[in-house]
Amino acid sequence: MSDPIETRLAQMLHHRKEGLSKGDPVVPPITASATYHLPDTQGAPYIYGRNAMPTWDAIEAQLSLLEAAETVSFPSGMAAISAALFASLKAGEQLVIPSDGYYVTRVLSEGFLKPLGIIVREIPTADYATADFTGVAVVYLETPSNPGLDVIDIAAVAARAHAAGAIVIADNTTMTPLLQRPLDLGADLVVAADTKAPAGHSDVLFGHVSGRDAKLMGRVRDWRRMSGAIPGPFEAFLVHRGLETLELRLARMCASAQVLAERLAAHPKVLSLRYPGLAGDASHWAVGGQMANGGFLIGLTLADAEQAEGFLTRCKLIEQTTSFGGTHSAGERRARWGDAVPAGFIRLSVGVEPLEPLWASIEAALA
Ligand SMILES: *Cc1c(COP(=O)(O)O)cnc(C)c1O
Repeated sequence: MSDPIETRLAQMLHHRKEGLSKGDPVVPPITASATYHLPDTQGAPYIYGRNAMPTWDAIEAQLSLLEAAETVSFPSGMAAISAALFASLKAGEQLVIPSDGYYVTRVLSEGFLKPLGIIVREIPTADYATADFTGVAVVYLETPSNPGLDVIDIAAVAARAHAAGAIVIADNTTMTPLLQRPLDLGADLVVAADTKAPAGHSDVLFGHVSGRDAKLMGRVRDWRRMSGAIPGPFEAFLVHRGLETLELRLARMCASAQVLAERLAAHPKVLSLRYPGLAGDASHWAVGGQMANGGFLIGLTLADAEQAEGFLTRCKLIEQTTSFGGTHSAGERRARWGDAVPAGFIRLSVGVEPLEPLWASIEAALA
């Protein structure tokens, strides 16, 4: 019997077929129209470009298949995260967010939610397992955390959050729905930056919110329409194209990351290394269960900032950029953004380069 996600991946590649008439384009058109023919106000599938439009339908059909849930698309990961938070919180309620997760989520919560009367509580990812969620309205989690790669047991945390009356929002950016399925494990909403591996070519920003609670998703959809945080048709088209090869790219990226992590962990210049796919890693328990594999992100620590910057400058096959999940391997020293990591800590995002030339370039740059 085939795996359910594999079945959905296969369906994703043909999701338009059923709706096609003779002569229709197989690839979804980029519908660049703000307005739609509206001789009267009843029954039109499209009315105005802020409400709904055909290129969103195409990308949302793909993502809904992968998530097995209703999906609303957004122009960036942060637009999706904002939608999920603003749609589910009100003044006086308490939000729990990770103190070691994606930093813009913290800045948004502190800078915009707190002044609106929401109580923002930051806890380290490693403490979610034991935190008391009494009185919490929204438990927001990110696993593995970016950039530390600590892991949360989603099912266990969701069960405790629900028992306390909270809803759970999971940022699944580092894994994608192919490698980790928070909604199946009890999360109420999934948010993700499709800017990363799903679009995959570092040429577009995008995001989505998925969920199986129609009322909550209705709020998320309303937020998009009212706030105006709408993706453009060209961006939706690019992500639609990227998603068609996501599984293939991830297979190469994750397989290479596993080998590179093993070799780097044994390298004398590497002081410490985090990769959930390694047997000795603190997050390894989740691999093969909650996480399909160790992913494509590696956290490695060199002696100091100078060593780390020198390595990134010398390595010919690692782009020096922020962000991750693209076709090109990329790395950056996260302390330059103020993440609570050692000065020599590099987040390495493994790309689709053939493995041995990539390793040769890394080995040469470390020497
Ligand atoms: C990049 C990222 C985001 C934000 O996505 P944008 O598309 O840059 O807005 C959110 N969460 C995580 C974990 C990310 O890595």
